[in-house]
Amino acid sequence: MSSGKGQEKVYDMIILGGGPAGLTAAIYGGRANLEILIVEHMMSGGEIASTDKLDNYPGFPEGITGSEFGQLLEQHALRFGAEMISASIDVIDTGGEIKKVSTSKGDYYGRTIVIATGTAPGLLGVPGEETLRGKGISFCATCDGFFFRDKKIAVIGGGDSAVKEAIYLTRFASEIVLIHRRNKLRAVPALQNQILQNPKVSFLWDTVVTEFRGDQALTTLATKNLKDSTVGELYVDGAFLYVGRIPNTGFLKGLEVDGQGYIITSEEMETSIPGVFAAGDVRRKYLRQVITAASDGAIAAMMAVRYLE
Ligand code: NAP
Repeated sequence: MSSGKGQEKVYDMIILGGGPAGLTAAIYGGRANLEILIVEHMMSGGEIASTDKLDNYPGFPEGITGSEFGQLLEQHALRFGAEMISASIDVIDTGGEIKKVSTSKGDYYGRTIVIATGTAPGLLGVPGEETLRGKGISFCATCDGFFFRDKKIAVIGGGDSAVKEAIYLTRFASEIVLIHRRNKLRAVPALQNQILQNPKVSFLWDTVVTEFRGDQALTTLATKNLKDSTVGELYVDGAFLYVGRIPNTGFLKGLEVDGQGYIITSEEMETSIPGVFAAGDVRRKYLRQVITAASDGAIAAMMAVRYLE
């Protein structure tokens, strides 16, 4: 289905993001003989690749490491002929029939686009958070957990990510304080049961971090109890933040998004612009999981095939 536009190659489908949604779209689109380009700025597998273990994807009864799953997904997508480049996306121009994707490696053209760029870690927006990022503040337990062997660390947040990663970090840290703004975890019961029984983990309930302090590296968290307004200090060697996610949509123009920036789609993954589809965590949806991302990717690809026909 591919043809040239002047000197430029025009892909049938450009997939933005190489996580489960994007790579599944590549598998389905590739099997439909589409010429596909995948643009990914980090590692294949997306967010899941930096997770220790994927435990709830059907067909892996013992679980599978996130990095292994990411590699298998990439191999699978490339087997059906997709090309993949490592580049960050600057802006997309969806105005014409041929859409332009401007990246750090140049411009690419496609008849359809599948946006599967996922989400990025949310921030607290308090003093010290930016300056001490990478100097004790981390967003990735699998990447940085090792540096906190026998150290005391804090994990901030009460959702699935915070609890799952705190459990993982108990392999390294001598002590973990989980700081949550309420007195009840949001994480699923299976994860709650695990963390509540872990002797290395203690909890600071109804508490928020108001400042990260330290000269060269993080040493102290300033905290505030939201129930009685008492303030405190917690001395830690590191802090892992899992306070929700923000959609990666900075490169978008003119696409309909919700109040939090998530792309609004139909059940068929159609966005407000014909030929542009969105799949996975970046779109407004009820359940953000690998399995629903893969499902979105499959639907987006088949809808792109239908659009091209
Ligand atoms: P999340 O579910 O949105 O949880 C964010 C947590 O951070 C919540 O506990 C929230 O508190 C807290 N929080 C948000 N803003 C805060 C602030 N300004 N100050 C202090 N605390 C704040 O995000 P997530 O845990 O990253 O999960 C994202 C999605 O991925 C979810 O759909 C989740 O189910 C999924 N996920 C699944 C797994 C799995 O193993 N199945 C693993 C990871 C993620 P409140 O509870 O008070 O709102």
